[in-house]
Amino acid sequence: MSRFLLIGPPGAGKGTQAALLAQAYGIPAISTGDIFRANVKEQTELGVLAKSFMDKGEYVPDSLTNDLVRDRLSQSDVARGFLLDGYPRTRDQVLELDDILSSHNTGLDAVILLASDPEELVRRLLNRAQVQGRADDTEDVIRHRQNVYLEQTQPLVEIYSSRGFVVEIDGIGQVGEVTERILNALTARGLSPAL
Ligand code: AMP
Repeated sequence: MSRFLLIGPPGAGKGTQAALLAQAYGIPAISTGDIFRANVKEQTELGVLAKSFMDKGEYVPDSLTNDLVRDRLSQSDVARGFLLDGYPRTRDQVLELDDILSSHNTGLDAVILLASDPEELVRRLLNRAQVQGRADDTEDVIRHRQNVYLEQTQPLVEIYSSRGFVVEIDGIGQVGEVTERILNALTARGLSPAL
């Protein structure tokens, strides 16, 4: 069983690493950002609600986000584990995840923190904005998203550190190098990928 969280500031490369790690461990990568974007695209009720927050670089309210994750983690494909990318992002979400996992009689194996320099991240995100054209990738919104991360999400690292779950990884470098660092760090903790 491999149950991981991936935490890091916007632009740290969470999505890319999540996909590679999920493949290595044979578990689903669950990105709340991707689920929200899919709902925005389909213009579902959730998508319409979420879009107004996402466009401003604000977090979608906890109640909506928590319901979505509770539902997703009740699906059968998480039986062998999962990698949550971009959740939890607030204290309330940490408590909700604790509750969801304890209701399934499970817990986390590791919290992977992808650490990065904020200015480098702003540069990366501006570049991604040109390539992907995301509505939340304008410079003002990008800077706001970094601030929201610092205020609301960075403090969560303390919570998970005190529980002994945090594996901090230098997120600067080539994609493959960063993946290698994560795999090495997890393997050193006895959490090697299934072969
Ligand atoms: P991401 O792709 O992870 O950067 O997420 C894109 C946007 O989706 C964020 O800026 C938030 O507006 C929203 N979002 C994603 N995950 C969460 C979460 N756990 N809590 C609240 N909002 C979220």
